[in-house]
Amino acid sequence: SHGLKWSSEGLVAIHVPWDTDRGRIVGEWKGTTMDRVLVTGAGGFIGHHLVKRLKGQGHWVRGVDIKEPEFEPTAADEFLLLDLRDPVQAAAAFDVEGGFDDVYGLAADMGGMGFISNHHSLILHNNLLINVNSIEAAARTGVRRYLYTSSACIYPAGAQTTTDAPPLREDQAYPADPEDGYGWEKLTTEKLAYYYHEDGLLPNIRIVRFHNVYGPLGTWNGGREKAPAALCRKTAIAKYKGGTLEIWGDGEQTRSFMYIEDCLDGLERIMAAEELNNVPVNLGRDRMVSINELAGIIGDIAGVDLEIEHVEGALGVRGRNSDNTFLNEVLGWEPQISLEVGLQPTYEWIEQQAKNDGLLD
Ligand code: NAD
Repeated sequence: SHGLKWSSEGLVAIHVPWDTDRGRIVGEWKGTTMDRVLVTGAGGFIGHHLVKRLKGQGHWVRGVDIKEPEFEPTAADEFLLLDLRDPVQAAAAFDVEGGFDDVYGLAADMGGMGFISNHHSLILHNNLLINVNSIEAAARTGVRRYLYTSSACIYPAGAQTTTDAPPLREDQAYPADPEDGYGWEKLTTEKLAYYYHEDGLLPNIRIVRFHNVYGPLGTWNGGREKAPAALCRKTAIAKYKGGTLEIWGDGEQTRSFMYIEDCLDGLERIMAAEELNNVPVNLGRDRMVSINELAGIIGDIAGVDLEIEHVEGALGVRGRNSDNTFLNEVLGWEPQISLEVGLQPTYEWIEQQAKNDGLLD
């Protein structure tokens, strides 16, 4: 026995021989070779979904976070509550016999515009520590592939000043002028990962620049939620309790939004693509909509036609979209799921959460 705990339903007692030559676990389940995978931020929105996906593929998965997933139990074989701001706890997160094959570095102290635009020092401080410690621990333990989740927030503000701003290409990151706080951390950690690679400490890395991701099981209230979730909640409340729909600013600010299933498909393809070793790549949809349009799509799904009230709020850049030319060139694929399709289960799930919390009574 190699001492690993198997706690997932359906993965009943099977003999898991240890292949010392390759230093990997060879399992009989599904007849595939299992990877040992670490997902940091596994208590969060994308991390939780990713763990489920990886488990479905038969891998052995450890999740790490400072909190457990909020809405359903984790599917991970092992879930460790650790604070990655602490180098000792980060070392523990990466400590596994034989080292990890794949690491998805998703842990971050983050939220929507309302949160990230009001907590610059906290975000820069916490996220720098998380990533400095994670990348160092990865290098020390000899991780096979390390994926860092960056963000569209690294792109220069000057390229996003109009509602019809051209889609952002990977090579536009420099000269740098990223989003305050959050964007500076993401760009700095991109560089850190790059230097670790260049110096031979991490042989195989991926840098993925997410553009807004949405879907069920994501933060939907409390101040850290993003626009799609916030609009679903406000729409559900107005549907059942009456009133107007509040939108921050004039609502003409534009963004693109990617459904969680597209995000997971993209992560898997990017991790597998050797051409993307140490080459930053966008992962997002390239359909730009205004926040007013987004509210309209959600209203159609909810079956309501609400009066919109424009109020003061955090706005971020005026217009932002993903240029998927490079992603497509390398993968022959790009995110496909339309807002009309992806927002349906998202709205239904949030309406149910709001109902459970008594917000619709
Ligand atoms: P999330 O907030 O749902 O998940 C992040 C998780 O990291 C949380 O569960 C949080 O508890 C955990 N975390 C925070 N501090 C920690 C610490 N000190 N130690 C260990 N864990 C800690 O966010 P998400 O939407 O799942 O995003 C995942 C990653 O993708 C993040 O790096 C985020 O910056 C990036 N990203 C997300 C989006 C998006 O639209 N969701 C867009 C761009 C980039």
